[in-house]
Amino acid sequence: MSKKQIDFENVLKHIYSELNKEVHRGQVASYIPELENVNPRHFGIHLRPIDDSPVGVGDFCTPFSIQSISKVLSLAYALKLLGADVWKRVGVDPTHEPFNFLSLTEKGNGIPNNPFVNAGAMVVSDMLYSHLEYPEREFLNFVRNLSNDSSIDYNKKVYTSEKANGHRNHATASLLKSLNNLDNDVEQVLDFYYLQCSLSMSCEQLSKSFYFLMNGGKNIVDHEFLSPSQIKRLNAIMLTCGFYNDVGGFAFNVGLPAKSGVGGGIIAVHPGKYCIAAWSPGLNEKGNSLLGIKALEMFTTETELSIF
Ligand code: GLU
Repeated sequence: MSKKQIDFENVLKHIYSELNKEVHRGQVASYIPELENVNPRHFGIHLRPIDDSPVGVGDFCTPFSIQSISKVLSLAYALKLLGADVWKRVGVDPTHEPFNFLSLTEKGNGIPNNPFVNAGAMVVSDMLYSHLEYPEREFLNFVRNLSNDSSIDYNKKVYTSEKANGHRNHATASLLKSLNNLDNDVEQVLDFYYLQCSLSMSCEQLSKSFYFLMNGGKNIVDHEFLSPSQIKRLNAIMLTCGFYNDVGGFAFNVGLPAKSGVGGGIIAVHPGKYCIAAWSPGLNEKGNSLLGIKALEMFTTETELSIF
């Protein structure tokens, strides 16, 4: 099927009407109490083709907590500011353990497996925290510039809720500190990490923010943020580490570089072609949006537009 023949609007409408009938939508994350207040019936998809009009269905304009999806944005910012030095303190390999396992830091002598497990994202946060004069404001500005959308913001309720219940993350950061891979105070790094995770975006804003990953490093208004070589690496890490301990399953079923978050969001990228965001708050047992995965699997199957 050639791309020109695809009616994206019809494809998305079909996927939405099929999946919106689903009764079993997984479990909304409860370990961050504020996330439990989200209505599990929400479901939205937004597609942004590189050379065609964007299309959205369902709740694609409703903002939600992007959680770990922010880890890609933090890494992008760190790569922009520090270049390849980032890789001295964090690895690029997938893990078969859940994203918040403490052993990730112990095994590698303080070098986390990759920047998308919590330990790795904390190390990236630490690098940014050292480098930025006003980390909270500068990170938000980076995201707003990248997406060309000044309305994107943190959700302070989610931030406070996670901070009050972040005992496991506290243990992870303390372990990193004891293994000499955090330069700043544990509390400062965690605060900044929770803020990043609390970023709130709709599917439409997500697909805008991740445009640079399908466009060789240039954002939606053609401003260059990263080089094509850096984009190659970011997309590779999304493909191999973006789905917790289910990257194999996601590559097999969907076949795109992607990142998920426990808020139920997923962003997926087909370099040079499109990016697509899906959101449904119910998660499967591995912490990924149940309906979101099904939607993306249907999309790449029906359009034959996976990277494989
Ligand atoms: N802020 C969450 C945590 O640290 C992010 C988890 C996720 O979305 O994977 O547990």
